[in-house]
Amino acid sequence: MAGSDRLLNYIAGEWRPSSATEELDIVNPATVEVLGRVPLSPAAEVDQAARAAAAALPGWRRVPASERTQYLFKLKGRLEEHFEDLSRTITLECGKTLDEARGEMRRSIENVEVACGIPTLMQGYNSEDISSGIDEFMIRQPVGVAAVIAPFNFPSMIPFWFMPYALACGNPYIVKPSERVPLTMQRVFQLLDQVGFPRGVVNLVHGGRAAADALLDHPAVRAISFVGSTAVAKYVYARAAANGKRVQCGGGAKNPIVVLPDADLPMTTRITADSAFGCAGQRCLAASLAVTVGEAKKPFAEAIAEAAATRVVGYGLAGGVQMGPVISHESKRRVEQLIGQGAGEGAEVLVDGRGARIPGYEAGSFVRPTVLRGLPPGSEVARTEIFGPVLGLMHVDTIDEAIELVNGARYGNMACVFTQNGAAARRFRYEAEVGNVGINVGIAAPIAFFPFSGWKESFFGDLHGQGLDAVEFFTQKKVVVERWPKEWSRTF
Ligand code: NAD
Repeated sequence: MAGSDRLLNYIAGEWRPSSATEELDIVNPATVEVLGRVPLSPAAEVDQAARAAAAALPGWRRVPASERTQYLFKLKGRLEEHFEDLSRTITLECGKTLDEARGEMRRSIENVEVACGIPTLMQGYNSEDISSGIDEFMIRQPVGVAAVIAPFNFPSMIPFWFMPYALACGNPYIVKPSERVPLTMQRVFQLLDQVGFPRGVVNLVHGGRAAADALLDHPAVRAISFVGSTAVAKYVYARAAANGKRVQCGGGAKNPIVVLPDADLPMTTRITADSAFGCAGQRCLAASLAVTVGEAKKPFAEAIAEAAATRVVGYGLAGGVQMGPVISHESKRRVEQLIGQGAGEGAEVLVDGRGARIPGYEAGSFVRPTVLRGLPPGSEVARTEIFGPVLGLMHVDTIDEAIELVNGARYGNMACVFTQNGAAARRFRYEAEVGNVGINVGIAAPIAFFPFSGWKESFFGDLHGQGLDAVEFFTQKKVVVERWPKEWSRTF
């Protein structure tokens, strides 16, 4: 894409220029090259998309489920054909390494595959003779026009936690990507356009808060999926609910991993480093606290410091790079400020990633992996989501204290334990107050046929994205009670 290009919205089956008076540059965070411009679409354009989707609903819900999935099979084919260029687009606008971007695309496609099972996944159930001669059925019908408001850190995967299921269940859909990484969805919508969904079934509106608010308020939009920071998740949850919509909101995280004294040290170190520093720490499942128990303290601190200091940082498209930049200069400043604050609160900066300069990419938003040793549990930095490659180390004497520390947190996205003791692992799994648990796993990201969970301030709502939860979210139940007296059949 040429540097001056302004993205188009996709509404009612056609590409439309936005009338927005405001726009933002889309910036490659490694090279600071301007990749294009994104319009901050006004409410009127959300209205156009919502109306187009509402007009498409009666026709789309009447398409048999087994035919709706044919569009998804075609989409899967297109996504596979364009796997590499989609992955590159993710790296260009988001900064993660090409391998990380490929992993994201694989999970996106996996969600399309699972949604292709909708003819059986959305079946209802029935009971004959609930009373003499009376039968009862539960039928799932589409919830109506649905929309996603997405974050920057997974430009493809997060819309795909929802969109394939919404479409397969018979709901027209609207995507509002993060205004910081809009190119990936632009590319996906070019493929959706080629697949040939009926007019108005898939819609893309670029923008920021105004477009999000317009979706939250629009009477034709019946269901909202949001993923982003906790403050915005709470706001979206309240506003959508006040408008009578079905809503699910993923929020922020501060994920602890617990290292027991019997953990396999090389494996634990490698996995923890991948979790804490992969995607530059900008995963909602990134480990951001490592709690060592007993004798694990010293060897783990030494090993993770070594892993942090030797991680290869650079441009995500370059070979051999293990970690790219954070999303923006503003984010880099914020992460560096929090590292300083951690030191001020009593932590030792064991590995300091501030002031990183990557040869050839001096202007990029790079922060090198950072380890804060002895982060006081009550400190602000121990509670704040940093969303950068910073791992805080804490120490306790027993597994009881470790579980207490995990459960004392405001977030509940993920917690992991590293141990060779099955009983300790089971106890951790049982007692940890989080939605996703890893046992000797550092990024407990559920595969597409499981819900992507989250508890406490990491999730607001009942039903999650992916799998059967998504089928529940995008359908409403209709229960039918039928009486057909036997005598009436004797008229023939
Ligand atoms: P963000 O909250 O800044 O933005 C998310 C979306 O909300 C964007 O589309 C943005 O345009 C919109 N938005 C921002 N402010 C708004 C407002 N005041 N009103 C209405 N809409 C608004 O989040 P981000 O920085 O893009 O993403 C990072 C965050 O997402 C992190 O906190 C991370 O933990 C979280 N996240 C959570 C999960 C999860 O599953 N729980 C997954 C991925 C990311």
